[in-house]
Amino acid sequence: MSHLGSTDMPLRVAIVGSGPSAFYAADALMHSGTTVAVAMFDRLPTPYGLVRAGVAPDHPKIKSVIKVFDRIAAAPGYSFWGNVRIGTDLTVNELRRFFDVVVFAYGAEKDRALHIPGEDLPGSCTATEFVGWYNGHPDYRDRTFDLTAETAVVIGQGNVALDVCRILAKPVDELAHTDIAAHALEALASSRIRYIHLIGRRGPAQTKFTAAELKELLTIPDCRVVIDPEYMQLDSISEQELALPENAHARANMEILRKIGDSHPSTAQKQIHIHFLKSPVALLGTTRLEGVRLEKNRLEGEPMKLRAVGRGIYQDIPCGLLFRSVGYRGTEMPQVPFDHSRGVIPNRDGRVVDNGTPVVGFYTCGWIKRGPQGVIGTNKPDAAETVKCIVEDLPRLSPCEARDDELLHTLLRERGVRVVSFDDWRRIDAAEMERGRAAGKPREKFTRIEEMLAVLEKA
Ligand SMILES: Cc1cc2nc3c(=O)[nH]c(=O)nc-3n(C[C@H](O)[C@H](O)[C@H](O)COP(=O)(O)OP(=O)(O)OC[C@H]3O[C@@H](n4cnc5c(N)ncnc54)[C@H](O)[C@@H]3O)c2cc1C
Repeated sequence: MSHLGSTDMPLRVAIVGSGPSAFYAADALMHSGTTVAVAMFDRLPTPYGLVRAGVAPDHPKIKSVIKVFDRIAAAPGYSFWGNVRIGTDLTVNELRRFFDVVVFAYGAEKDRALHIPGEDLPGSCTATEFVGWYNGHPDYRDRTFDLTAETAVVIGQGNVALDVCRILAKPVDELAHTDIAAHALEALASSRIRYIHLIGRRGPAQTKFTAAELKELLTIPDCRVVIDPEYMQLDSISEQELALPENAHARANMEILRKIGDSHPSTAQKQIHIHFLKSPVALLGTTRLEGVRLEKNRLEGEPMKLRAVGRGIYQDIPCGLLFRSVGYRGTEMPQVPFDHSRGVIPNRDGRVVDNGTPVVGFYTCGWIKRGPQGVIGTNKPDAAETVKCIVEDLPRLSPCEARDDELLHTLLRERGVRVVSFDDWRRIDAAEMERGRAAGKPREKFTRIEEMLAVLEKA
């Protein structure tokens, strides 16, 4: 007799999102011993999530994970439904009619706010906007950044903040042969920014950078990295913290930070100043950003739980541009439970729960499951955990009403949605690479959805 997950009745799974967690979930499903048909939906016509739209253009090796994703997409039973925004083009309840299981893997696309006065002044931006802009994300195509000031401030001390500093500090020649968006390269070519201040609320022993990214700052041509030696005197609790076996990454960062200052000429065109133990308390200016007020901090608490506490001592840094890079936040999807305090879909090991009760057929993985932490690889075990739950739950799942992709295609067509298949994406991909060849770049991205769809109409 046919049952869900048999060859007669493959388990129909919709994955919302096509970033790393979505591809790792698809792969785990295909290797789970269950017969599956995986439909991966993305609001953009392009797959790969932040691997395309987040990873810095000067990090091509990291993007090579796309080859792994392409192999997954080539497996039987996989389909891509690009340019379909779940929640708008198709509601979750509608999706549920066509699929036995829905896996929410739509990432965490919003920035956390600082909640300080002046945050909305022109000149105060989010790292998300800047990253999306230089990576050619259609949402940020028309965003502009005033790069005429000499000083920019970056708030936050994670890898994204380092990416922002590096893109601002690198000579454009170093970016010209990457897949950076043409509009960003053009604007950066006339940037006057020389001084970049990277601000962290805790000390050098508590940084969240990965050592490789931190080290890379020291390799930027004609750029000096500066740290006030005062910060490198650690308090006793930070010393204890650093000595803990589980804190190897902080020790590696500390070693790099201690070397900074020795290896850079003072005549460099650009300077990156790394500040510790300072929090922004206000952005200054009346009609546009003119500076940031920082409060100096001390650390309080136990090792690995140190908190920054204001000392009531202030410092103003005049600046014309400021990027907030203090973390991401997931957004609510209509008809899906949401934890507003954490900005994630509430779940137990990937099973979506509503007030503690599992919602039959709903699962989640990636940043929208666990919050915006972890690198690309972190999403693999995370997705595997979710798929394990799906397989365990198989006997309790009931088949969806409409086991018919054609019907879904018709519904979307009637709504004026041009679904982009993986073969369609391949055409867009080929056209981008062709454009790139002319400019000596790996690809010249299309940055507007209409341009991407126009490639398909031409074909
Ligand atoms: C700026 C930045 C740089 C990074 N650089 C690195 C790096 O160099 N190396 C590294 O290992 N990690 C890096 N990371 C981390 C890595 O990108 C994440 O771990 C990973 O992308 C999270 O995967 P995800 O699938 O959960 O979400 P995402 O990659 O964000 O994918 C979510 C997908 O869902 C889609 N989506 C959103 N809403 C909808 C909807 N309503 N309907 C349909 N689709 C929707 C989006 O378009 C997107 O494609 C970086 C992160 C950021 C923010």
